[in-house]
Amino acid sequence: MRHIAIIGSGPAGYYTAEAAQKKFGDEVCIDIIDRLPVPFGLIRTGVAPDHQSIKAVSRRYEKTNLGDNVRFVGNVSVGSDVSVDELQGFYDAVVLATGAPNDRKLEIPGNELSGVIGSAAFVGWYNGHPDFKDLNPPLAGKSVAIIGNGNVALDVARILAKTQNEFRGSDIVAHALDALAQSKIRKITLLGRRGPHQIAMTPKELGELGHLEKARPVVDPLDFPDEGDDAMLEPGMRKSVTHLRSFYQRAGELLDKPITIDFDFFAMPVEIKGDGEVEQIVVERTELDKDMRSIGTGERYELDCQMVISCIGYRTPPIEGVPYEHGRGRFANTEGRILPGLYCVGWAKRGPSGTIGTNKPDGFGMVELIDEDIGAGDQKEGRKGLDRLMAERNVEAVTFRDWKKIEEAEIARARAGAPREKFTDIAEMIAARES
Ligand code: NAP
Repeated sequence: MRHIAIIGSGPAGYYTAEAAQKKFGDEVCIDIIDRLPVPFGLIRTGVAPDHQSIKAVSRRYEKTNLGDNVRFVGNVSVGSDVSVDELQGFYDAVVLATGAPNDRKLEIPGNELSGVIGSAAFVGWYNGHPDFKDLNPPLAGKSVAIIGNGNVALDVARILAKTQNEFRGSDIVAHALDALAQSKIRKITLLGRRGPHQIAMTPKELGELGHLEKARPVVDPLDFPDEGDDAMLEPGMRKSVTHLRSFYQRAGELLDKPITIDFDFFAMPVEIKGDGEVEQIVVERTELDKDMRSIGTGERYELDCQMVISCIGYRTPPIEGVPYEHGRGRFANTEGRILPGLYCVGWAKRGPSGTIGTNKPDGFGMVELIDEDIGAGDQKEGRKGLDRLMAERNVEAVTFRDWKKIEEAEIARARAGAPREKFTDIAEMIAARES
């Protein structure tokens, strides 16, 4: 019997479990350990609440959990409740699928002002992550600056721009829906340090901005290269740029929408100003060098704004004793191998890139490595060892069956038309399994 522990119950963790189940059949025992009492990681608290079709992939992960040889072990923190070393004593392979839940820091003066928020916190807030439920972002000002030109920046802009009606059918949590109902935001500026051909936004997500009830995207045609140059882009990128161009081609028909989402390209934030709270962001115009890197031109201007949300990427939190690559914010690894018996997969391995689907080949590839390294297993104790240790330490795990009870309770308390109303508090989640 092979014993595998997977740390993290997001897409990378579940695809790895699925692959191990398919590869080893009854000859494997898998524990998926998560510090939260609820599974699915990024699917639950990262994917935007108005993108329910993407969230539906959790049904596939649920099937993985129905097999007897896969267990969800929620509410157990690796690092404090149990160490990686201890897990390595019990399991043939320990796979870190911990994602990249921490914000990459915005390293400019003023980043400590109230109202400067990282996307992990903001996204976690509207998605009901227990760590960020009390964020209380300032929504009473008229203007917000969003830093970054990736899909997370798009998610954040769209959520800030939507009407209550447009959240119908979503599982945005009540505290965020209520706060957004009072929002006074009228101007959302997306600051991209490079140009339209260097965005990291995918076409479907960008296209959505052209169909919002009360908001309209605004681009400056002067920022664009000749249209003929689009032919050199790879097809997905070309589609995205075509959407961007359509925003100025359709500008006239969208004019009556009161909220603007301004794409400010070649715009590098250099300082945030304010007396305790954000009041302005100072931006430097950039141009691209021959390697398509942004370089400042020296020309600076200020934008009034009352909140700054930086969407500039994420980092994997280090775990004591596990080799870590500080520059890239992920575990030090060679194609997923960290140390003998210790692996990483998904964002913890490659950094925060790609779609949910990218994790599938990643997980399946991981299991091939494990197979190569551990063969038929090394007669380790597996989950019995973990259970014994948890009993000694009075750590009570949340099981998949418990999660299904929590989920039932979330569905039962949903507002009309919504799939669920998430619990945002760990104690509430745990209490709900008794319901
Ligand atoms: P991302 O795609 O890497 O984009 C980060 C953006 O931040 C880039 O535009 C980057 O510009 C900019 N940036 C980085 N450092 C900066 C700095 N110091 N100052 C100004 N700008 C800076 O990251 P993400 O948006 O966080 O997304 C993470 C991953 O999740 C991506 O793979 C994304 O596609 C995926 N995702 C997908 C969806 C979806 O499919 N619906 C939704 C959300 C996220 P440069 O290019 O100049 O470095």
